[in-house]
Amino acid sequence: MTTVRERPLDGKVAIVTGAGRGLGRSMAGALADAGARVCVAARSGDELDTFVREQADLGREALACPTDVTDAEAVNRLVDGTVDAFGRLDVLVNNSGIVATTPLLDQEPDEWDRIIATNLRGVYLATRAAGRYMVPAKSGKVVNIASNHAMIGVPGFAAYAASKAGVIAFTKTMAIEWARYGISVNALAPGYFATPLNAGLRADPELTRRVHRAIPAHRFGRPEELAPWLLLLAGDASDFMTGETIVIDGGQIAR
Ligand code: NDP
Repeated sequence: MTTVRERPLDGKVAIVTGAGRGLGRSMAGALADAGARVCVAARSGDELDTFVREQADLGREALACPTDVTDAEAVNRLVDGTVDAFGRLDVLVNNSGIVATTPLLDQEPDEWDRIIATNLRGVYLATRAAGRYMVPAKSGKVVNIASNHAMIGVPGFAAYAASKAGVIAFTKTMAIEWARYGISVNALAPGYFATPLNAGLRADPELTRRVHRAIPAHRFGRPEELAPWLLLLAGDASDFMTGETIVIDGGQIAR
């Protein structure tokens, strides 16, 4: 039976990719607040080191693993290194992502490939690497960060939307493939959240007005507003929930 506990992830170990800044950093903090030991991954080591220092100041153990999620060897090292350091792996949050808003006729194949490689191949690589531990352990939680742009058409977002729709399809498939091992695979699909990813957009008053008009709640989400949903999917509450995608977007796609 699920009970509400103050530190529901005490004793658990989590990996969060793309945790240097933005949503990943916020979610890594939420997992640590909930009691998990967290390994943070991204390409820029400095941002990861800052997270680890902040956690150490709070008396918590965390680990920084500079990783490019498109690199299969590096991703294997990330997962093996986490298990070597902390002895287990319970939660994987596939959050690393990049975006471009290029109209299709202007989009060069390199940019398309980069977006698909980071947002989709990265999710595949990290899930596969984590599965080498979760499947034998017959337990685990995989939380993939998709986007509400997988469910609506927005000009300029073809590669991004395709990658995130792929993440949702991957989530459903892996949920079914791994349900027999007691592993839950779910996704969060945020709408617009204020992070460095969209700092340029938010610096432009006209673009900001346009985004606000598209969102019934009339504002960007705050990164910490993902935490309750993440903790639901990372903890016991999702033991009988798998293959789902939760949309958190201020009502944008409910119109
Ligand atoms: P940010 O740009 O703020 O942060 C992205 C993080 O991903 C950084 O830590 C970055 O670090 C890391 N990253 C990028 N490329 C790679 C790579 N190849 N390997 C490892 N890490 C990488 O983005 P957000 O926090 O806004 O977005 C996080 C996720 O949420 C993304 O998947 C995004 O698509 C999704 N999302 C965001 C929304 C928003 O409005 N903010 C809305 C819907 C979905 P580094 O560059 O150092 O590698």
